[in-house]
Amino acid sequence: MSENGHKIELPYSIVIRDLAVKIEKSPIEIIKKLMTNGVMATINQAVDFDTAAIVVAEYGFEAVLEQVEEIEPEEAGEVPLWRQMIAKEDAAALKSRAPVLTILGHVDHGKTSLLDVIRSEHVAEGEAGGITQHIGAYQVELKGRLLTFLDTPGHAAFTAMRARGAQGADIVILVVAADDGVMPQTREAIAHAKAARVPIIVALNKIDKANANPEHVKQQLAETGLIPDEWGGNTMIIPVSAKQKLGINDLLEAALLVADNIEIRANPNGRVIGTVIEAEVDKTRGTVTTLLVQNGTLEVGDIVVAGTAHGKLRAMTDYTGKPVRKAGPSTPVAVLGLNEIPSAGDVFQVVTSERDARDIVSERHDTAKARIQTKKASLEDLFANFKAGEARELNLILKADVQGSLEPIMSELEKLGKGEIGIKILYAETGNIGENDVMLASASHAIIIGFNVQADVAARRLAEKEGISLRLYEIIYRLTEDIEKALKGMLEPAIVERVIGRAQVLAVFSASKLGKVAGCKVTEGELRRNARIRLVRGADIIYEGDLASLRHEKEDVKEMRTGFECGVGFKSFTDILVGDQLVCFVMEKSA
Ligand code: GDP
Repeated sequence: MSENGHKIELPYSIVIRDLAVKIEKSPIEIIKKLMTNGVMATINQAVDFDTAAIVVAEYGFEAVLEQVEEIEPEEAGEVPLWRQMIAKEDAAALKSRAPVLTILGHVDHGKTSLLDVIRSEHVAEGEAGGITQHIGAYQVELKGRLLTFLDTPGHAAFTAMRARGAQGADIVILVVAADDGVMPQTREAIAHAKAARVPIIVALNKIDKANANPEHVKQQLAETGLIPDEWGGNTMIIPVSAKQKLGINDLLEAALLVADNIEIRANPNGRVIGTVIEAEVDKTRGTVTTLLVQNGTLEVGDIVVAGTAHGKLRAMTDYTGKPVRKAGPSTPVAVLGLNEIPSAGDVFQVVTSERDARDIVSERHDTAKARIQTKKASLEDLFANFKAGEARELNLILKADVQGSLEPIMSELEKLGKGEIGIKILYAETGNIGENDVMLASASHAIIIGFNVQADVAARRLAEKEGISLRLYEIIYRLTEDIEKALKGMLEPAIVERVIGRAQVLAVFSASKLGKVAGCKVTEGELRRNARIRLVRGADIIYEGDLASLRHEKEDVKEMRTGFECGVGFKSFTDILVGDQLVCFVMEKSA
């Protein structure tokens, strides 16, 4: 809160209880004041800014609208290649095309249900029954206009698509359950959409539920920077129920409205370029790849390069499974003929000969490593980039154990960010660091800071692969000290972990001194007595600490190599299960 003389900052909407705290008055008093003004509200209900302003005025405060911190789209992310290509086309050749929509949101908020009703209710007359095969995208018709939906949330590839493929869409439909509100993946989706500079429409789902609380969700959305249009903001919030099939038409109409406000155009006769939606190997037909054409017209017989896959298109079908020979902008098609499966989110293009295709692919293989190097966003690199005039801002993703630790860290970082190099916190959340955080970091050149949290196994692996800096701290001043040093270009080499071996727990034994000992087989590298050890169960890290004992057939040993069995004891830790994985690592200074 900032109270400046008689001025008081208020958000777009505020719950009575919070308002009472803000102006240090009893909520009962406020409710009475509201009643005399003809507004009935309970302590847990929210009132809008104008109403709150009237109330606080009676106590001598002047209300001013709180400024919401937004990620500026111009500053986040890169312009996707296909957009750059279209920008280079002759303006006179551009024709309007169907908007491409993707549905994002927190788990269980109704993404799949919504995609299902849109598909079943709105797929062009006569086609609905004809969809024999799910290809990861479909088209619907409303008022004679087409809309293309990316339909991949159930797929593993979807996580990757969110980071890279949100860039393939023109509009993001953000599903938020009216009974649950803004959740971590909601915020993450907002960050993805903003990084890709894609406008957001909110589908406020599950409006049929008795405990739905739309006003509360709108307030939460306003707090993230998505100000509802009814409050004077730019975000359309459409109440829907996927279950009762309510509001679906309104949602599609809103999408067309948004589409009309952003130029959605392409040159059907231009260079052919698009995005890979999904791909799989079919036992009888070979690779089946779903492509979304974004510029130009794709034809059977074209030679295509997608990521490091290439080939001549043997056959093409639309989303209903019907063979087609041509596909223009915004059309999803399944194609046969690529030599391997590309990754979801890869860009594809048409080239003039098989030879060109092979050259491009071999070049891509060569530069893949270099690309990872240049993508690398580490604290150490930041200052170098800054000197070279490339970076003016350090993008951070902050994860902490509890809400209470996020706030002090953010305010410390804010202070540090007032110097020559700014600090931009893409988002700050509680919880361990997961794969999604690393993907967003990779997509937006951010580094990840963890405070009293751990990174799960998949996240560590991905960070390593993508060259993303992931730094964990337990003391706030160490964290801020590091960031400060990085901003001044004086950072010491980071201490990084190097995995030296892995083992699998085959049995658990009781031991008098340690309580329990893990009977293991070393599956990779070696276990070392004086190294650190991490016990992993599925995707969770259960324990991390020093090795207390390492034995081979009752003998204490210093190390144990691949293929051997040994007993491993941990310091004051006994929760060991058969099937757990052990990871043995040492800490060393990074080069
Ligand atoms: P996803 O994880 O976001 O894809 O969510 P799902 O579409 O799988 O939906 C999660 C659960 O919410 C399912 O049990 C759905 O039946 C339920 N659900 C989805 N939409 C609605 C709705 O509008 N109203 C109600 N009451 N339940 C819904």
